[in-house]
Amino acid sequence: LPPAPLGQTPVRAMTIAGTDSGGGAGVAADLRTMALAGVHGCVAVTAVTVQNTLGVSGVHTIPPETVAGQIRTVVTDIGIGAAKTGMLATGAIIDAIVDVAAEVGIGRDRPIPLVVDPVCASMHGHQLLATEAMDSLRERLIPIATVVTPNLDEVALITGITVVDEDTQRAAAIELHAMGAQWALVKGGHLRSSPFSPDLLYDGETFLELDHERIDTPHDHGAGDTLASAMCCALAHGLSVPDALRFAKDWVTESIRWSYPLGAGHGPVNPLW
Ligand code: PLP
Repeated sequence: LPPAPLGQTPVRAMTIAGTDSGGGAGVAADLRTMALAGVHGCVAVTAVTVQNTLGVSGVHTIPPETVAGQIRTVVTDIGIGAAKTGMLATGAIIDAIVDVAAEVGIGRDRPIPLVVDPVCASMHGHQLLATEAMDSLRERLIPIATVVTPNLDEVALITGITVVDEDTQRAAAIELHAMGAQWALVKGGHLRSSPFSPDLLYDGETFLELDHERIDTPHDHGAGDTLASAMCCALAHGLSVPDALRFAKDWVTESIRWSYPLGAGHGPVNPLW
């Protein structure tokens, strides 16, 4: 992506996500990637997590009208080229985001593309999206996604499909597209049987497969957020969804390569290579 012009207004993007007090995932990961990609990152916080490298021990959710207010006030003044969602915590927060997105023009077939990273749980298994929120995710948020980016655990929760091979990965992509997402990205990073990290992108017509080297490390905290943020930056720059994915996949692979140990648990991926 072209660097931000010094002293001039750069391309802007917004993350709608939760905080991680350990500085690894969520808003911290999103803003690191946006800054490094030369994009001015704006923030709508949805939830504050009490979190270190060993896991999440508490969550405080932000009132839905405060989440919507953060989005509205930024779009109407600063303007953004793309937005992404991460941890959304509750159905009421999802509903508020979907309503304000219609009002300010965020979502597929609208001026501002939207990357939906349907974060459901932390890598340690702590629930980051309430069970009652699944209907709002499926029926309201995914239908306005320019691209939805679930990992295989999230695919199972959202579609009921257990991805074990190429055929089931395709079936999941077809199902997510049928739910209304313009593009479905089924991330294969957790498909342990493969030496590669096969991602599948589908827009109702064409399947695009992207294979990348799998880097084996326990320090991959924030990898999903980093991929979605990098896609969001590329879309804000006007790239197509397939080109945004190619950019983001390189970005997250290098970020995982240069991840580092932190605390006693899982360290973060690192886009500062
Ligand atoms: N905490 C927050 C605020 C997040 O947004 C996420 C993931 O999106 C996580 C934790 C979980 O990250 P990981 O799957 O790397 O544990």
